[in-house]
Amino acid sequence: MTTGSNSAYLKADKAYESGSLQSLFMMRASLHFRLVLIIAAGICLMPGLTTAASAYISVLLYHRFDENRFPTTTTSSTQFDLQMEYLKSHGYTVLSMDQLADCLEGKRPVPEKGVVITIDDGFISGYDKAVPILKKYHFPFCIFVFTHGIGVKNYMSWEQLKQLDAWGGEVGCHTYTHPRLINLKEKEIEQEVKGSKETLEKNLGRRIKYFAYPYGQYNDTVRAVAKRAGFRLMLTSDPGSVGEGAEFDRLPRQAVVGAEMSLNDFAKKLMNPPLPVTWRFPESGMLASDTIPEVSITLKDPGLYEPGRINLFLSEKKRLNAQFDSRTGVLSCKGPFHLTRKTNRIIVTARRKSDGLFAMDSYLIVIPGTWSGMKYTILYPIRY
Ligand SMILES: [Zn+2]
Repeated sequence: MTTGSNSAYLKADKAYESGSLQSLFMMRASLHFRLVLIIAAGICLMPGLTTAASAYISVLLYHRFDENRFPTTTTSSTQFDLQMEYLKSHGYTVLSMDQLADCLEGKRPVPEKGVVITIDDGFISGYDKAVPILKKYHFPFCIFVFTHGIGVKNYMSWEQLKQLDAWGGEVGCHTYTHPRLINLKEKEIEQEVKGSKETLEKNLGRRIKYFAYPYGQYNDTVRAVAKRAGFRLMLTSDPGSVGEGAEFDRLPRQAVVGAEMSLNDFAKKLMNPPLPVTWRFPESGMLASDTIPEVSITLKDPGLYEPGRINLFLSEKKRLNAQFDSRTGVLSCKGPFHLTRKTNRIIVTARRKSDGLFAMDSYLIVIPGTWSGMKYTILYPIRY
């Protein structure tokens, strides 16, 4: 991958969802793709699957359509149609969220080229512009809505959300008011998450199984509350794909937004397999201070990657001059790094020897301090 395309991630990172996790224990035990075991056991003859770890699914994230007043979060419907055509003509299998969950739980084979389509926030432009195209291609999709916005100007109504089921459209939970959950007390998080889920279930008459973190922000408490609410999968905005090492409550998504995204850019979004790691410093979430002594990531299988094509990025410092030890798999860059942004994303990319694709791992870190005035910020002001 070129530095240019990585810059695009950092740019998207800045313009886009930013967030944090509280410090986790070192490497949280991952809930791995159990299916890879099945693949390893007998489905390895699937064309293109050279190793179990090579199977992955790209979960795409959209927001608005043809809303040029919001150039960083909109997609043109013409481009969207071309992207869906690309998926069809290039042999991609578009999975529903249920099918994705089945893959993760080992109940379904992971397709060679798997994609999931998600649309956040429930804007009416999604219903008017994207849904007809998805219907045309018979592609399943999931729209994550925040309950407070349903039925108000520029957002989908309950009746419209009810219709989606017939067209392969799932409705997912995106809280009640779209707050920055990491700023809320546990009780408030519960109200936002559980309250919204129950309201959706009552009004739509079906179980709500999937959750997307507003702004892609989460911490241990938020993750725990979402798990307790009973979601099958929880989605972030961390760039990357779902595969080996996937955590059910912290799945990455590839954002496909921006008025200027080309079809080539889109194709690249589909070509970032997950990059399994065994150690991260700093770990995702809240930092002890606004200065970190170093950044150090240990790759699980260093021999799979080209030593000269491994890159480490920290959002506000751009590409770091990192050293890679191909024997131990340790990729590190000594600091200290003084951070001024509330949130940063650390991204690692490594070119795979087997297929030339750049595997990717990404996560968020947040500097300590109060985010005053942001507690009740709503992403999109609602006008009744
Ligand atoms: Zn959102």
